[in-house]
This record gives sequence, structure tokens and C-alpha cells, in this order.
Amino acid sequence: MERRKFLKGAALGTAATALAAPAIAATNAKTMTIVSTWPRDFPGLGISAQRLAARITELSEGAIQTEYFASGERVRALDVFDEVASGNSQAYIGADYYWTGKHPALAYFTAVPFGMTFTELNSWIRYGGGMELWDKVQDQFGLKGLPAGNTGTQAGGWFNKEINSGDDFKGLKMRIPGLGGQVLSKLGASTVSLPGGQIYENLVSGTIDATEWVGPYNDYFMKFYEAAKYYYTGGMHEPGAQLSLTMNKSWWSSLTETERSIITAAALEENGNQYFETMANNGAYLKKLQEEHGVEVRNFNDDVWDAMADAAAEVFDEIASYDALAAEVNDAVQAKMREIGHSMALFEGVFTNQRNRIYGI
Ligand code: CA
Repeated sequence: MERRKFLKGAALGTAATALAAPAIAATNAKTMTIVSTWPRDFPGLGISAQRLAARITELSEGAIQTEYFASGERVRALDVFDEVASGNSQAYIGADYYWTGKHPALAYFTAVPFGMTFTELNSWIRYGGGMELWDKVQDQFGLKGLPAGNTGTQAGGWFNKEINSGDDFKGLKMRIPGLGGQVLSKLGASTVSLPGGQIYENLVSGTIDATEWVGPYNDYFMKFYEAAKYYYTGGMHEPGAQLSLTMNKSWWSSLTETERSIITAAALEENGNQYFETMANNGAYLKKLQEEHGVEVRNFNDDVWDAMADAAAEVFDEIASYDALAAEVNDAVQAKMREIGHSMALFEGVFTNQRNRIYGI
């Protein structure tokens, strides 16, 4: 208290600005309670969410005081959607595809099978009409989301047997959420959508045979290598999985334009940060998985990819028949992915393929 009193009386000098933002909270500060789907200090995703919460307070110079609750600290991971829709908390950080049961189109704002990469997805959301469609889907629940992180193209997953054809998924019990799970269900897998904090125990106990999570940097800390030996590279299910900072819309609308801009800027900053941090670490952690833990890295072969693509086409047909909005979102994503993806393939794709061929990357 003494310190706070001192600061209040101090001129706006270096002493005040050097201290953490919460210590100099404005007297009329707004509280922003954020609930998250990730456990406290969870490597990668949890750390990213905590960084974003702190950054909002920092950028607003204390005018927006965030209170961050990791999964289970206020509500369970998958209950954060209802918590924010009801107005009990102001925002959640999570992956919108956890709630395809609320509306299937929510999946398109995290990741869909054979969908968009980080660059493609952000291009669509920011400059290609995606944000308007996301608003339309979330509006039904009184929510407003912003991109707030991206894991890049995710690993195909951890298996204790090799996957050499679509038939190898038959009878497999696998943790894989979202539409990717629906694709593998069509190939005969029995899929579940466990939150991150519960996967390891289920894999080790044999309740599930396989799991996907994120990629080498995030997966390393999950210790899945203790129960599954084969690690598959880029999968179809999450080509550029996006995380969201989703606000209660009434609360969002009550903010000033400046406050909304600060939250948007913080979210956008973390959207890039999380992706860049992941990309910077994936290579080193893949090597650690192989060298320290004997993990065997595999690619899905073309037969597996083709079987997954046939199943994905059925999933998209089902979504498009759910309602007009689901059809609108699916059509928009399919069209924009082809348009953005085509030019990226012709320029960035051609270049990186040749560079990597020549340099053996
Ligand atoms: Ca995943």
C-alpha cells in the first residue's frame, strides 16, 4: 500500500513507468476476467494465453485490469464458452473448434481438415471477409472473437503402430477434436476430444491408443513419447490452428474505442508471437524427441492422405447441410483457400521447394 501511495503522489517519471502496470491501476480501471482452456503455465499454449492477459493490462497502462484463470481455476476448460456467453466472465482464450456442438461453423475459425495455413487463414480473416463471417457465427451466442495465437501446421499425431492405409484407423481410439476427429471417425476410428491436461494419463493408461496435440515444441513437454513411438509429421486436421480471445459481446460493446483497439492490438501481437515462437522451436524440439527419446518420425503416405480427403469431403457436405450460415462459411473457406493457396503455391511454394531441394533442407 505504501508503494502504491508513493506512486500516486509521484510525478510521471521513470520510477512509475518502470514498474508493472497493475501497480499503477487507474482508479476507474475496468476488470476483464479471462478464463482459459489451458492449464496454468502450460508450455506453449498456456504461457501464450497468460502473456496475452498480462499484455492487455500493460498496453492499457492499467486501465483494463485482466484477471486470468487457467482451466479449472474458475471453470473447467470446455465450459469457458458458456461462462463468457452468460456474462459471468468477460473473455475466454481457447480454440473455437472445441464448441462445434454449439455450431459446426465455429470450427472454421480454429482449423478444418485440408484447410488454411497460418498465412492463408489470417489473410482470409483480416482482408478476405473471414472476420465478418466469424462475427456472424459468434453473434448467435453474444460473443466477439479475435485471433490470438496460432500453432502452425500441426503434427499428424502419436501412434503406437504405423499407419499405412486408411484402414489402419479402424478401431483406433484417438484423441482428436474438431472436424479432424469427424474425418477419422468416418475411417472407423473412435475419437474423443479431451482437453490438453487429460491426454497423457489417458494415453498411458491405454484408454486411448493415439493422440494428436500440436507439434514438436508443444508435444515435447506432454511426454507422449512414453506411450507412443511413432510421430507423424504434418497432418490434414489442423493446417494452421488459430486460438481466439473471445469476449462477451455486450461487455465488448461497452468499451471505448481506444480500449477495444488496445485489446485488438494485444491479441494481434500474440497471434504472431505464438506462431513465431512455435516455428522458432519446432526444429530443435523435433531433434530432441528423436535423439533423447528415440521417437520414430513418419509421413502419412498418399493412400492415407487420399482416404482422409474422401472422408473430409463427406464431413464438409454434412456441415453445409446443417444450416445456411454453416454453408456460407464452408463455401467461403473452400473458395478463398483455393484462391489464396494457389498464388502462395506459385510463389512462396515454388521458391521454398527449390530452396529446400538445393540446400537439402
Ligand atoms: Ca491439435
